Amino acid sequence: MIKVGLGQDSHRFEKVHTKKKLVLGGTIIQDHVALDGNSDADVVYHAITNAISSVTGVNILGRIADEMCKSGITDSKAYIKEAMKYMNQMTIHHVAISIECKTPKLAGVIPFMKESIASVLNISKTSVGITATSGEDLTPFGQGLGIQALCIITVEGNG
Ligand SMILES: [Zn+2]
Repeated sequence: MIKVGLGQDSHRFEKVHTKKKLVLGGTIIQDHVALDGNSDADVVYHAITNAISSVTGVNILGRIADEMCKSGITDSKAYIKEAMKYMNQMTIHHVAISIECKTPKLAGVIPFMKESIASVLNISKTSVGITATSGEDLTPFGQGLGIQALCIITVEGNG
């Protein structure tokens, strides 16, 4: 059986530069204010986590991730891994990600994000598609207040 999962997440930027780094799709982006959140606030990894949850039926972001965060686990890779525990016999065929933000500019970062995401999900880089849009000042993301990510995941097998 084929299932298609959908995930979304958004975070606002921190008001001021702190020591916290901006992390997107497992990739550190230098010289940009970080996203606000208890964890590393990796909005792309969170959207992937939610997409996986939408095919397993077990939600991780929220109570479970908050508890992991309290125990000191703030690398969002751990939330994806936690969501994947419930995939049983399902295998991932493809992941599509769409990111909206005025800044940073992502074209140069996309190859690195693809590599990190492929590695976490244990799929090939060619099975990860990422597009980015500046939002043209229309939404809070297009106005530079934060970042939104959407993710669609295609899986096959018995859940
Ligand atoms: Zn999030």
